[in-house]
Order: sequence, then structure tokens, then C-alpha cells
Amino acid sequence: MDKVHIDETCNTCLSNVGRFPGTENGRISPTDEPMFQTEHWLVEHSVPASIYGWSVIAAKRHIISPHELTSEEFAEFGAVLEKTCRVLYQELKCERLYNLFYGEAENFNHLHYHIVPIPHNFPKEHRGSKIFAYNKNPENQKSLAEIKKFAEYLQTKF
Ligand SMILES: [Zn+2]
Repeated sequence: MDKVHIDETCNTCLSNVGRFPGTENGRISPTDEPMFQTEHWLVEHSVPASIYGWSVIAAKRHIISPHELTSEEFAEFGAVLEKTCRVLYQELKCERLYNLFYGEAENFNHLHYHIVPIPHNFPKEHRGSKIFAYNKNPENQKSLAEIKKFAEYLQTKF
């Protein structure tokens, strides 16, 4: 692979190249490999995750907004988004799949889309933009071991 531009202050970049500090594998995700990847994109299981299958599609190079994508990267993103949504729906039969990107969290100023499988009967009070607060609450979070096991299962479905 060609050398990808990364930002040394960006946690997504550091995780993408296996240099995220404080974890055994140098990645945010407990799996040794992304669930899926293409030339320009990685698909990871989110950590933390309050919902099984909460995934992140991250650009491999450090960019902060979709207007910086090349046409080739946009086209590839479309295919990656389709694949991710199809796998998550097939495996979880969720009610809907949120597609979210802000990139405002400190040290995560990097283009990455959260793909969130919302289960049927998911409580109304945690829906919409409140889903991130729900995900941040440690009481709702899956353990790293649970995330690893489920992400490794999803890896086989891409
Ligand atoms: Zn970055």
C-alpha cells in the first residue's frame, strides 16, 4: 500500500496504523484486523459499544470533512457503506441503521461514519442524537471481550 497521510495527534489515524496508545494491539478495536477494508476505508466495530454491531467506517488517510474526498474515495465509500449496511441488517435484523458523522470529539477530528443498528423496540428516549450519550454511559456498554467476539463473527460476514 502507498504511504497514507496520517496526523500524529489523531486517535483514528494512530489506531488505523496500529499505534494507538494504551491498548495491547495498538488499535481502538480489540480485533487484530478491521472487520473489513478497502484501499481507502476501514470498517471497525465501535469501542465503546452499547449496541452489538455499532460500526465505524473510517477514512484511511487523515481528512476531516467529506468535501476533501476524491471522487474515487466517494465511489468506494458508497460500496463500503452498502456492504456494511447489508451485513449489519442481515446479521441483526435491526429496525434501522443510523448513519452519523460529526468528527468533533477531541483527538477524533477525522472522517469516520458511525453506522448504528437500532434494534426494534429500542427506547424512544435514547434515539436520534441522544444515541451518543447512551453509548457513552458505561452501564450500557458491552465488554471488550464481548465486542471482540461479535466483531470477529462479523468479520466472517463481509
Ligand atoms: Zn486522522
